[in-house]
Amino acid sequence: MKYDKNNIFARILRKELPAQVVYEDEYALAFHDIAPRAPIHILVIPKGAYVSFFDFSEKASSAEIMGFTKAIHNVIASLDLKNKGFWTLSSHGEEGGQVVFHYHVHIFSGRRPSQITPLHS
Ligand code: AMP
Repeated sequence: MKYDKNNIFARILRKELPAQVVYEDEYALAFHDIAPRAPIHILVIPKGAYVSFFDFSEKASSAEIMGFTKAIHNVIASLDLKNKGFWTLSSHGEEGGQVVFHYHVHIFSGRRPSQITPLHS
């Protein structure tokens, strides 16, 4: 899939749309999910134009990959989730349930994965 520079997260990066930002650095922006599925539900996005994890891990530079991973680490540390516990999720494509086609990592805490998406409801 070709990257659409007008996707919602690209527009948040350009500050055309508002977001509840919790972290920002050279490589990444993190903000609250607009429809949280857990008491803590943060999205971390790279500043570069990548559709998904697959796209990012194929095309991003080592500096971008390291910077983005460290940004996720910094968000987790800043929210004090290391001891409390958290989980991460990254969707790719239709079968993966991806809705926004700018690479993002969800960080959830306060609710377990099995409590969020029943397989056969
Ligand atoms: P995914 O299904 O992995 O593509 O997840 C996309 C996520 O983006 C969903 O959890 C949405 O609730 C969230 N989302 C969509 N629009 C916004 C927005 N404007 N601000 C924050 N989160 C959003």
